[in-house]
Amino acid sequence: MTSENTPDREYIFKPAPVPVLPIKGTSALFPVHRIYCVGRNFADHAIEMGHDPDKEPPFFFQKNPDTLVPPENGFPYPAASKDVHHEVELVVALKSGGSDIPADSALDCVYGYAVGLDMTRRDLQAQAKKHGRPWEVAKAFEHSAPCGPIHPAATVGHPREGTIRLAVNGAVRQDGNLNQMIWKVPEMIAYLSRLFTLAPGDLIFAGTPAGVGAIARGDVMQAHVDGLDGITVIVT
Ligand code: MN
Repeated sequence: MTSENTPDREYIFKPAPVPVLPIKGTSALFPVHRIYCVGRNFADHAIEMGHDPDKEPPFFFQKNPDTLVPPENGFPYPAASKDVHHEVELVVALKSGGSDIPADSALDCVYGYAVGLDMTRRDLQAQAKKHGRPWEVAKAFEHSAPCGPIHPAATVGHPREGTIRLAVNGAVRQDGNLNQMIWKVPEMIAYLSRLFTLAPGDLIFAGTPAGVGAIARGDVMQAHVDGLDGITVIVT
């Protein structure tokens, strides 16, 4: 049940605010519902993580919507890890959803695109993988999803190729191309919609190219996707 079903009942404490992202070119806000992330969507990154990119269907995990942070707030180095990695990703923002969405109409669900970081406690992820445990401790911690403004597809179109890059302190670490994505955006939406009922406000982090690596306090991460505003995030 949701608050919509119980309009006359009081909360015992103030509800958490709705997570939002800014939208390029307007003061209107994008209210975020869920965050889905696709794993190993670039072959060279799958290989660097020790997997065969040809053998896997897409797989997904989630981050909590309140892990989104504006880039200018910085990324606080999280507790409980000594190996925190950057992953630069194209973020797909949905304006509509549903179940069993055909790939050939899936782009109709897309409101726009942003540049995001899927920050990862890699040491905790390695432990989780080793023991067959869930990934939340590695992926869904506070501040783990710095994200820039959403660019409406009406303005920037649907990017299928173009540089996706991340530099740390000016040195390029990740340098890929969106055309290397194994599962393209329409295929990802179609696949996800067979597992979950997608909804307006859902975000999909579309996977990262090779070159992920550790960051330290004081580092400056600069994330770039062609055609979108990049983000600069200081590790604090
Ligand atoms: Mn990722």
